[in-house]
Formats: sequence, C-alpha cells, structure tokens
Amino acid sequence: FNQHSSRLRIATQKSGRLSQESQALFTSCGLKINLREQRLIAHVENMDIDILRVRDDDIPGLVMDGVCDLGIVGENVLEEESLQRQLDNEPCDYDILSRLSFGGCRLSIAVQQEADYQGPTSLAGKTIATTYPRLLNRYLKQQGVQARIVNLKGSVEVAPRAGLADAICDLVSTGATLEANGLREVEVIYRSKAVLIQRKNVSDAAQLKIINTLMPRISAVMQANESKYIMLHAPKAKLNEIIALLPGAENPTLLPLAGNDEQMAVHVVSSETLFWETMEQLKALGASSILVLPIEKMME
Ligand code: ATP
Ligand code: MG
Repeated sequence: FNQHSSRLRIATQKSGRLSQESQALFTSCGLKINLREQRLIAHVENMDIDILRVRDDDIPGLVMDGVCDLGIVGENVLEEESLQRQLDNEPCDYDILSRLSFGGCRLSIAVQQEADYQGPTSLAGKTIATTYPRLLNRYLKQQGVQARIVNLKGSVEVAPRAGLADAICDLVSTGATLEANGLREVEVIYRSKAVLIQRKNVSDAAQLKIINTLMPRISAVMQANESKYIMLHAPKAKLNEIIALLPGAENPTLLPLAGNDEQMAVHVVSSETLFWETMEQLKALGASSILVLPIEKMME
C-alpha cells in the first residue's frame, strides 16, 4: 500500500481482548468497515480510513515509527515498548489522544498461595517471570529490590508451579486465573486501559481533517458508554432525598404526572449506572417505576 496516500491508517488488535471493543468504537463513530475474512487491511467505505489489524505488541512501534497514524493499544504494552525503545535509543514519540473506557486491567505481582510475603523486600533474590520485563524492572528499581527477571511471552501463570520462577508479574482483571493457578496477588505495579495514540507530526491536511472529525465522536461515544438515562416516579415530599441518591445528576428534569399530585417524574443523565443497593434505597424512599436506560450517543 501507498506510504504517501492521505488515507488515515489506524492500527488495531486483530484478535484478542481489545479487538471487539475497538471494532465497536469505530462502528459507533459511524465508520462503515468492510471486514472481509482475515485481511490485514480493512478499508472504511465512507471515510478515507484504513484499519490495520495486527498483534497488539506491534501497535506502539507501528505508530512510533510513523507507519500508522493512529493506534488503539493497552497502556501496559505502550509503556513497556516505550521503556524498551528508550533503552535501545530508538524513536518512541507519540501523543495520547484519548484514554478509552475499555481494556481495563492491572499488572500485578503474584506469589504462590503458601509463600511467605511481607512486602516488596520479600522479592529480593527471587526469580520473577513476566511478559513485561521493563515495567517490572522499573518497579523493582523504585522499591530498591534486586530480583531476577525471566522474560516469558506466554503461560506466565504456570511458571511458579513448573519451578521456573518464585513469583510472576502478569495482567489481572478478575484474579480468577491467578486463583486457578494457586497464586496470590500481592502488589499492583501498573493500572492500564486501552488508549488511542497518534504518531508525532501528522501534518497532512486531509488526515488532520479526519482526526478532527473522529475525536469528538470518540469522546461522545465514550461519554455515552459511561452514562445512563434514569427515569423514576418520586413522591414530592422526598424529591430532594431521592435526587441526592442519583450519581452525578446535576440538573434533573422534573415533570408533573397527569392526574397525580403526590408524585413527579424525575429524569436524569447519570455519569454512572445505578447499583441495586441504590435502587433499593430509592424504592425505600417511595420511588417507583425506576428505569435505567443505556445511552447510545451524547454530545454536549
Ligand atoms: P496478540 O495476539 O494481539 O499479541 P495478546 O494475547 O498479547 O494478543 P490479549 O490477551 O488479547 O493480548 O490482551 C490485549 C490487551 O488487553 C492487554 O495488553 C491488556 O491491555 C488488555 N487486557 C484487559 N484485561 C486483560 C486481562 N485480564 N488479561 C490480559 N490482558 C488484558
Ligand atoms: Mg500481544
């Protein structure tokens, strides 16, 4: 493909934990993607954008080397690659355009269930297996602890049982994998989410125009994803108490109910969802007909 075309090239994960949500984000932003088979490049039909589908490990480098204009990747992979490139004196410039609302996880140190652990100093002289040697090395340095790092590309969680390491440093979201492998999470060393990054020095006017169209749409989708539309009927006497329970509801809409002087309808856009506990509290205050609706798009 043409290096000098002004079509915008976005690198995304081909298949894995970020691919579905990256895809969904593009679709929500109005991109019509022709996703035939397992193609490396998918052309967007209604905008001058090409989506490159690659291993997530390759995404930071593609953007930092200027081969792709944008990329969606986990901060953990991005930061690891940056540290490695700084060490190797390779280019590692990029801008973060947006922190996305998916791909959340943490990079944690875990030890065997029965191991004695009193804090980071317990790791001194131990062997730790990880896919993120640079991030782990930075953490150990900060803690002033010397340990041996074994770099494994996969199956990190079985390393202690296999006798390859005393501890591991791996990505965790629920902790179920750790538990299934007889491991105990003892330190969180990095918290990550997916981010949208851009190469330095994008100067092509057509490309900038596409980015400027895309960005407000992405913010709108992210904001909508994190928000809910809440509707309920509230007794007038308890209005203030009920509104105080609604998360992030600055300006609720209050509407009269036909033929009912005791109650009002309350509508709010909430910055978070309602938990069951809050719904039960609302009900206890006399609220009824409580609805929590997803929001598809939002522009302020
Ligand atoms: P690839 O084949 O593209 O190299 P991969 O196996 O390296 O894929 P995935 O397991 O698909 O990567 O994870 C991609 C990213 O998803 C991670 O780098 C991380 O940012 C994020 N992520 C979110 N939750 C988790 C989790 N529980 N475990 C691992 N990664 C997670
Ligand atoms: Mg990978």
